[in-house]
Amino acid sequence: MSDASKKRRSFDLKDMQEHAASKGGKCLATEYKNSTYRLLFECKCSHKWRATPLEIMGKKNKPGIWCPKCEGQ
Ligand SMILES: [Zn+2]
Repeated sequence: MSDASKKRRSFDLKDMQEHAASKGGKCLATEYKNSTYRLLFECKCSHKWRATPLEIMGKKNKPGIWCPKCEGQ
């Protein structure tokens, strides 16, 4: 049985850069492989960390996360 209703979210590097810019940060990755491949991000406080596009953009039941250092406070 196929599950066509289950949409796989897909992003690209430009989506990640735009999302990062909307948070005042940057996506430092130069290559996008897939939604579970970790990319390097920098927030507006110059924290750098790696996260997957799915973690950043969020999933169906889970909101996206941004800088773990800023948000962890
Ligand atoms: Zn930060």
